Amino acid sequence: MTVIGAGAVGAAVAYFLAREGWTDVQVLESGDPSSATTSQAAGFVGQARPTVERARLTMASAELFASFERQTGYTMDWRQVGAVRLALSPSAELELQQIADTAAITGLPVSFLTPRELQEVYPVLEDISTVRSALWSPTDGYLQPNSLVNAYLQAARDLGVTVSPHSPVTGIEVTDGSVTGVTTPHGHHRTELVVDAAGPWAGAVAQLVGIELPIIPVLHEYFVTETAPGWSSDLPCLRVPELQVYARGEVGRVLCGGFEHEGTSLDPTSVQLGSRLVPQPNWEVLGQFSANLERFVPGIGDLGVSSVFRGWPGFSPDGRFIVGPVGELRGFVMAAACNAHGVSGSAGLAMALVESLGKDPSPYVQSLSPDRFIPRTWDWEEARRTAQAVYENYYPMPGSPATAH
Ligand SMILES: Cc1cc2nc3c(=O)[nH]c(=O)nc-3n(C[C@H](O)[C@H](O)[C@H](O)COP(=O)(O)OP(=O)(O)OC[C@H]3O[C@@H](n4cnc5c(N)ncnc54)[C@H](O)[C@@H]3O)c2cc1C
Repeated sequence: MTVIGAGAVGAAVAYFLAREGWTDVQVLESGDPSSATTSQAAGFVGQARPTVERARLTMASAELFASFERQTGYTMDWRQVGAVRLALSPSAELELQQIADTAAITGLPVSFLTPRELQEVYPVLEDISTVRSALWSPTDGYLQPNSLVNAYLQAARDLGVTVSPHSPVTGIEVTDGSVTGVTTPHGHHRTELVVDAAGPWAGAVAQLVGIELPIIPVLHEYFVTETAPGWSSDLPCLRVPELQVYARGEVGRVLCGGFEHEGTSLDPTSVQLGSRLVPQPNWEVLGQFSANLERFVPGIGDLGVSSVFRGWPGFSPDGRFIVGPVGELRGFVMAAACNAHGVSGSAGLAMALVESLGKDPSPYVQSLSPDRFIPRTWDWEEARRTAQAVYENYYPMPGSPATAH
């Protein structure tokens, strides 16, 4: 069994396969583990979601993050600081209520905060006069994505997995409709099962075996300011869906990002194996995130920026993971299209993948199958536009198509 890619997804998949008793698992990684999209992630793990499916998946992940060090000895630097979601309008209040209703079904503890409680929980928010409701999710938090990958991989190694950095897969061998091996510059490896966890390159890897999948890289970025009084790492994660902005404290600085209304995506057919995907910061977009946060924290826009994190997470046109075996090619399995929650969802996604390889996967796991896009009846440009719209509506309002799953 070969896992291609050692980002959050590949590392999680390798760990869960080994934990479930799969032997001979090897991970082949082009560069160093966690050197691509995962290294840029903010590490938010939000369990309060509008749909039961999404909420359960992230709850399973958060439970694992909280117990991983105890179980394996390796830390993911998980911080259970809680999260606050603000509503500024009646329709956004409805969304908060929908999330609270979902939480009641899934058993996630959430509560609405009074203005005084909000100020206690989030003292750096100086102006909360426009806030109509605040939903508090105390078991949410964030982790350090590089620690997450290292922890998964260390634990996987303890279970017998081998990890080979600087081993880009350049070819996949197929004999009589079945995968039989992979090629890297170091040689040929015999394998009957390949998991494509190559992040934004996952579509290009699938193309090696003639499979076309709509995995669309969409630009996402955030910035970290210079020192900002009060913004300790213990502050909860903050989300203001209407303004498409999020923030948290990062060692005495502000980490602030968001989901712009007009996103930027790549033509997926132009993504080559091994191409470097490092976007330039878009200062206009970052400035808008800052202006949105400034409504609650006057003066934040005057702070200098110490660093910008950015990348091209893979999106699918229906906003769902692409996970499981490809029906038309025995031994080729997908684990991609994380729709910008591949860190928080890594454990849930990997569990779904393991289940997809078993005898009787649940209807939910079956619904993630890559076969929903095979054979290609869809149009590349239409798929790009639709996947980009998933990004632009990342914080959906009740009843919008993106909440339908
Ligand atoms: C700015 C930013 C902030 C984000 N914040 C969050 C967040 O707060 N919470 C969250 O859950 N998600 C967040 N995300 C999304 C998250 O980063 C991704 O969903 C996640 O990292 C995807 O992991 P991955 O393993 O699929 O991809 P990657 O991390 O890109 O890993 C894919 C790996 O495959 C390797 N590879 C590619 N081709 C080959 C090949 N031919 N052979 C071998 N190896 C290959 C690459 O080198 C790479 O290491 C954020 C993303 C960005 C850009």
